[in-house]
Amino acid sequence: MPGTFTHEFDTPVFKGKSNFSTGLLIGGQFVDGSEGKTIDVINPATGKVITSISEGGPKDVDLAVKAAQKAFDTAWGLNTPGFKRGALLNKLADLMQAHFDELAALEALDNGKTFSWATTVDVPESIACIRYYAGWADKVHGQTIETTDDKLIYTRHEPIGVVGQIIPWNFPLMMLSWKIGPALATGNTIVLKPSEFTPLTALLMAELITEAGFPPGVVNIVNGYGHVVGSAISSHMDIEKVAFTGSTLVGRKIMESAAQSNLKNVTLELGGKSPNIIFNDADIEQAVNWAAHGIFWNHGQACCAGSRIFVQSGIYDEFLKRFTEKAKSLKVGSPFDKDSYQGPQVSQIQYDRIMGYIDSGKSEGATVHLGGERIGTEGYFIAPTIFTDTKPDMRIVKEEIFGPVGVVIKFEDEDDVIHKANDTMYGLAAAVFSQNINRALGTAHKLRAGTAWVNCVNMIHTNVPFGGFKQSGIGRELGEYALENYTAVKAVHVNLGIKL
Ligand code: NAD
Repeated sequence: MPGTFTHEFDTPVFKGKSNFSTGLLIGGQFVDGSEGKTIDVINPATGKVITSISEGGPKDVDLAVKAAQKAFDTAWGLNTPGFKRGALLNKLADLMQAHFDELAALEALDNGKTFSWATTVDVPESIACIRYYAGWADKVHGQTIETTDDKLIYTRHEPIGVVGQIIPWNFPLMMLSWKIGPALATGNTIVLKPSEFTPLTALLMAELITEAGFPPGVVNIVNGYGHVVGSAISSHMDIEKVAFTGSTLVGRKIMESAAQSNLKNVTLELGGKSPNIIFNDADIEQAVNWAAHGIFWNHGQACCAGSRIFVQSGIYDEFLKRFTEKAKSLKVGSPFDKDSYQGPQVSQIQYDRIMGYIDSGKSEGATVHLGGERIGTEGYFIAPTIFTDTKPDMRIVKEEIFGPVGVVIKFEDEDDVIHKANDTMYGLAAAVFSQNINRALGTAHKLRAGTAWVNCVNMIHTNVPFGGFKQSGIGRELGEYALENYTAVKAVHVNLGIKL
């Protein structure tokens, strides 16, 4: 019998109880992993164990795939009309709404993001995403195509089948919602693996999915490690598509194992090293506020974080002064303190990785203009950090740090900054600050990135596509575009009288 997570939240911002199974959800049942192993879940604010959850393995992935196949063939896929799928997704959104604060508190406990940001962004955006795709469920259809009078040809946008979904730890609930929303709306069945670092909201979602009344096997959730459960998903012969969000390194492995198994369809949302360009004619106060939000929000653990801040020489000194003041004003502290802007990094591994990058910046000769150190003695808190005097080939300029560490780089003219901004293997997002519309849009169009923000950063909407150029990914999530990831087009030819 799998265990139960029972937790009393008694925090300044939320008082309430959580109670749910820590098992794997396979075929509508909560079960132990077949090898009987468990994974400890760590509170990043303290470094202490919160609970332990069932750990899956390849055998469990296999059972989940079988359950998903059965559900696809008998209860979902072409067997359930779109409006019914939409109604179930709306029911799920209602249940999420009913557990709004609890979901936010679990994200704060497990990931370390602040409760206030979780209630402002993660939970409402996740609910909005599920509702958005609920609306699409009965609006996905093909075309009639004219050829000759003796033929009727039409296309159908059919579900792909059993899809595998592998998600990261930085937005656990939001990434789950971005994945299951379009897949379920279009009639696919799912085997999903949450990050081993942040499984708690996925476990509550497993209960809510069951309570909403999705047929057993439509959504299966198999917790476990990436190299075990993730790789069993990406190499499984009966999974027809894998959708992955995570690092470029692992994205490459997913593609390799998809190619070496059954050539499954792959979509990837990967890393970034996003440029944020601030011209002399920007509204400097706004540029400072947005730039700080760009790199320090979610503790820098955002794939689209504006980690390379390019500032034109005419305002460089003033910008740096104000940006430093702004960064100093951001309170780093308990995720459950309503004044905290930044909580702990998600894990010891990430903490060590980020501190390693800070050390590399120092040893390669950059200046630590602000921060660069740990905060407190327990948990994984890192001070907002600003580097200056960098060179293009330094690791802190080239590589994704995924922490609250930004580099501020001076530039002279437009051509120079566009070249520098595009000089990266990534292409997820970019931002431009200027009050001259021609300059702002002209620059935005020349940046090689899937999202270009003008006078803002980190703005993501459920109905707007999001994804990467270059090594930041393949395919687009969100909006109507995401439906294409989960549908296969069939052309039906009807002979109305052509004789042989
Ligand atoms: P990660 O790549 O280490 O892990 C992501 C997921 O993949 C986890 O569930 C992990 O268990 C699994 N995994 C690990 N090894 C695997 C393997 N060999 N086969 C299959 N699955 C495996 O990434 P992370 O550290 O969890 O998240 C941070 C990364 O995610 C950053 O690079 C960030 O930029 C990226 N990210 C991108 C987006 C986007 O939309 N582009 C959004 C969020 C995060």
